[in-house]
Amino acid sequence: MRPMAQIAMVMNLDKCIGCHTCSVTCKQAWTNRRGTEYVWFNNVETLPGQGYPRRWADQNRWKGGWERTRSGRLRLRAGGRARRLGTLFANPDLPTLDDYYEPWTYEYKNLIDAPAGDDMPVARPVSQISGEPLDTLQWGPNWDDDLGGAPEHAPKDPLVEKVREQVGEKIRFEFEQSFMFYLPRICEHCLNPACVSACPSGALYKRVEDGIVLVDQERCRGWRMCVSSCPYKKVYFNHATGKAEKCTLCYPRVEIGMPTICSETCVGRMRYLGVMLYDADKVTEAAAVTDEHDLYPAQLESFLDPRDPAVEAAARASGISDDWLEAARRSPVFDLIRTYQVALPLHPEYRTMPMVWYVPPLSPVVEAVAASGHDGEDAGNLFGAIEGLRIPVEYLAELLTAGDTYPVEAVLRRMAAMRVHMRARNLGEEPDPAVAHSVRLTGDELEDMFRLLAVAKYEDRYVVPTAARADADALADSHPLDAACPVGAEPGRPVLLNLAPTRRTV
Ligand code: SF4
Ligand code: SF4
Repeated sequence: MRPMAQIAMVMNLDKCIGCHTCSVTCKQAWTNRRGTEYVWFNNVETLPGQGYPRRWADQNRWKGGWERTRSGRLRLRAGGRARRLGTLFANPDLPTLDDYYEPWTYEYKNLIDAPAGDDMPVARPVSQISGEPLDTLQWGPNWDDDLGGAPEHAPKDPLVEKVREQVGEKIRFEFEQSFMFYLPRICEHCLNPACVSACPSGALYKRVEDGIVLVDQERCRGWRMCVSSCPYKKVYFNHATGKAEKCTLCYPRVEIGMPTICSETCVGRMRYLGVMLYDADKVTEAAAVTDEHDLYPAQLESFLDPRDPAVEAAARASGISDDWLEAARRSPVFDLIRTYQVALPLHPEYRTMPMVWYVPPLSPVVEAVAASGHDGEDAGNLFGAIEGLRIPVEYLAELLTAGDTYPVEAVLRRMAAMRVHMRARNLGEEPDPAVAHSVRLTGDELEDMFRLLAVAKYEDRYVVPTAARADADALADSHPLDAACPVGAEPGRPVLLNLAPTRRTV
């Protein structure tokens, strides 16, 4: 066992209201500069939809992430070292500005400075790249927000295409039958980051002490292999500096025990931040399992229970400090991922082992049952309705469990059981223990889960230990450099991880 610690995030999709506050505060903090006009480290997509950049989830097109070879090894989908070097100057897998959008502003000054006349002055859109007026705006980072243009845009969602192949016309975009939910996205700070392995300059690295993935701006040569290899398209090219930039998980805040800016300002209070301990020895094996449906359980298996004395002793021996162990024991993220198993990874089939997980949305099922004239909070009605969800389980499974519907159904049943249990409690009735039992939890556990998901306070949602830097040297001594990236370098490649300097990023 080789315990390592990672700051991870869980987002409860049931509670996202799509207000984009997280995106705006992140942009103000990190990408409000020349060269990053089109960049959103945090963005919120409406699903079904094409996303940002357009159709980012179509890995047949972008070749992001890893694939398993017939011999059972992992290889970047972008190809081996030779292919990647051959495409350094003309990478066919790079998104263009059209795939993101051409950023614009408006001629606001015109509203004030226009001479008096018969016509109302207007503020025309102007490209932030060329400075030229843009006559028609064709696409933006949220063009299909709230299913805007759904009949035209939503069928182009790669997941909709897949689900239609499997179950036919189950997904419809007629007004009464369509569904939607929001998916906020940041860098996944993966355990097996494709961006780190793809970088020819060794500029991307995963910090040993907290797992945050960063770009060393001095080493970056602007090859953009990280941009094409990240399957989540969460590395961006700054056209002013010629360097790559990405979400830093707000490490200057995290280092002093504060949550990320997107978490801090989340209006829906749907984000959770905390420590996960994992066994670095299991990562390679977990990322390379044969069957894609086993990727979620394999990643779950690689996490270590911080309340287990054997894990605690091993973690201490690895140099993980008492502060971090204490935070790991109180981690809301661990409880949502492991204890209650209601959070799932985003696109585990990319084999990067992402560390931002999601509680799938359940809300529409209650409304759907209630709209049909039945009691939307009744256990029997709810469990029965999950298979007939307006958000098809198959769609959620393509998003969160590599297409396996079983774990998604299990999560939704657990969430439904929590509602039924708490409804009885709130009405002063005795909850039926069979409801909790049917989802393999106790009534007390359902109530704890409710507290965490529904009414958790700031200090319960964000359990971020401080002093990671002070412990970094001890950790670095106890882990050889090539072990810091759990999957490690490709054969014949130098070690890509670079421990220092950790502060020199964007
Ligand atoms: S999500 Fe983040 S850590 Fe994972 S491959 Fe993309 S940029 Fe790298
Ligand atoms: S601030 Fe929170 S609720 Fe608003 S869009 Fe972002 S994640 Fe959703």
